[in-house]
Amino acid sequence: MRIILLGAPGAGKGTQADSIKAKYPVAHISTGDMLRSNIKEGTELGRNAEVYMDAGKLVPDDVIIAMMERRLMEDDAKEGFMLDGFPRTIAQAKALDEILDKMKLKLDAVVDLVIEDDAVVGRLTSRRVCRQCGEIYNTVMKPSSKEGVCDKCGGDVVQRDDDKEDVIRKRLSVFHEQTAPLIDYYGKQGILVPVDATGEKDAVLKVLEQKKANA
Ligand code: AMP
Repeated sequence: MRIILLGAPGAGKGTQADSIKAKYPVAHISTGDMLRSNIKEGTELGRNAEVYMDAGKLVPDDVIIAMMERRLMEDDAKEGFMLDGFPRTIAQAKALDEILDKMKLKLDAVVDLVIEDDAVVGRLTSRRVCRQCGEIYNTVMKPSSKEGVCDKCGGDVVQRDDDKEDVIRKRLSVFHEQTAPLIDYYGKQGILVPVDATGEKDAVLKVLEQKKANA
């Protein structure tokens, strides 16, 4: 299975990916996670990316495309993948098409998680994340048992710098300008599957299973 999870920041791409992974153990490739682990490790890529990320802007295409080309060549990705947060621009989508052509692979579906901006702001301002293991919490829906402490590993549970409201608004405007055109791009390829992002947490899994059953 080779799919892309498309949708605004906060649409729940990570949550949907987790439920899909439990059923189909394909490589979950999140560019945001890859960049954050580079920042944590203090790599040059991380240092360059951090400035853009903290400002709610996209990291330049050439940096992301080179990073993804390397990642898609790894063995686990050759078996199947779920892309989360990539592509985010038309240039990235075109580069991905070229990489997949070279590898003689095709995408099965591009899932568009549909959500209103105000719902995103509500979700993301209440999101918290463990600095150590990456576990996601929500101050309203899923708080950690002890405030600020991860239930899984005891690490610090914090708000991501880019989950502050002004940065979220900026990320949403970047999404509408640069990422939303991908809906049309993949719609024309006939592989776009819209899913209501405010529905169940395994909504995408259900749609994919239905698609498979009808194939
Ligand atoms: P995410 O965790 O997917 O919301 O990504 C967090 C931040 O990482 C984004 O706001 C961007 O600054 C950066 N980022 C992640 N994926 C990409 C991408 N495909 N292209 C450019 N920047 C990205």
